[in-house]
Amino acid sequence: MFERFKKLRDPKLAKRVVEKIHDFAPKHDVVKICHVCGTHEWTITHFGLRSLLPQNVEVIAGPGCPVCVTPASEIDEAVQLALKGVVITCFGDALRVPGSEKSLLDAKALGVDVRVVYSALDAVRMAEKEPDKEFAFFAIGFETTAPSTAIEILKKPPKNLTFLVSHRLIPPAMELLLGIGDLHIDGFIAPGHVSTIIGLKAYEIFPSAYRMPTVVAGFEPLDVLFAIYMVLRQLRQGVACLENEYARAVSWEGNIKAQKFMAEAFKIVDGEWRGLGKLPLSTFRLIEKYSVYDAREKFGVKINCGRDLLPGCQCHLVMIGKIKPTECPLFMKACTPRKPLGACMVGIEGTCSIWAKAMNKL
Ligand code: SF4
Repeated sequence: MFERFKKLRDPKLAKRVVEKIHDFAPKHDVVKICHVCGTHEWTITHFGLRSLLPQNVEVIAGPGCPVCVTPASEIDEAVQLALKGVVITCFGDALRVPGSEKSLLDAKALGVDVRVVYSALDAVRMAEKEPDKEFAFFAIGFETTAPSTAIEILKKPPKNLTFLVSHRLIPPAMELLLGIGDLHIDGFIAPGHVSTIIGLKAYEIFPSAYRMPTVVAGFEPLDVLFAIYMVLRQLRQGVACLENEYARAVSWEGNIKAQKFMAEAFKIVDGEWRGLGKLPLSTFRLIEKYSVYDAREKFGVKINCGRDLLPGCQCHLVMIGKIKPTECPLFMKACTPRKPLGACMVGIEGTCSIWAKAMNKL
């Protein structure tokens, strides 16, 4: 195992892949490769991979941070629930994400009960231990975390636990990027962890319908370098296909069991993404059969629209890779990891937060 891990960080191999990237990069045209994953952004920034690329090869970050894309209206729903006396359980990253007026952390400061958990199962255990209280699990995340929420719902948790389901799907976000007229993208690097669940097959549409080279990649620096090389190789050959750099974890079908859990518990509906508007068929909601576990229904929570962006905040442009965090006028001035104004500065997967932390280390 250790030997395998060492190979993934082998500097000699990395040097050879970087040479290949330079060989395959076009001489003049600018190439933009888009990833849609906070973990990829972390690897790229933390290991300084951009500095190894030819000047005309850019890797841009798409909407791949689950807390960043959660719209203010859904944070408002969680805050409203908390203010109604429901104990909110959520992942730590969700605490500081700005709502229209308040984050969950602000609400907690007012005295409501908000607790950090590591999984939906933790929320089940809390609800079982305190049957006289109402609990809600704020279920944020992409297809990676959605199955673990689904399985707890299918197991019929205690009746004093409901779910505020806010899970989202990655492929619709990738399609959105291709519909933005002035956004230049030449290829995709797709997220390895999401792909272990949804499988390679979920991305078939990108090369077939959009002629977009697409490579599923893992999270080691060499994984990302290989993926960049594979996209450039397709561009050089004038082809667009779906390739799997992360074959050690991702199959064509994905995790069928996890897909079944999601299909049994959730339906797919149109949904708001922070600063990006409504994306067709991009969000999970509970199916009617399990509506007794739906926090929105049980407590009559309804927020019609939220305020996603504060004045001056450029999160919507950072999230589609249109600008770099350093191009936002608030970056490291009014907006810092300690006092985030925008959602991209909050969590470990937010592009601004990753860039800010990397710059602090320099
Ligand atoms: S610096 Fe802050 S306000 Fe600007 S884009 Fe990043 S998170 Fe949003």
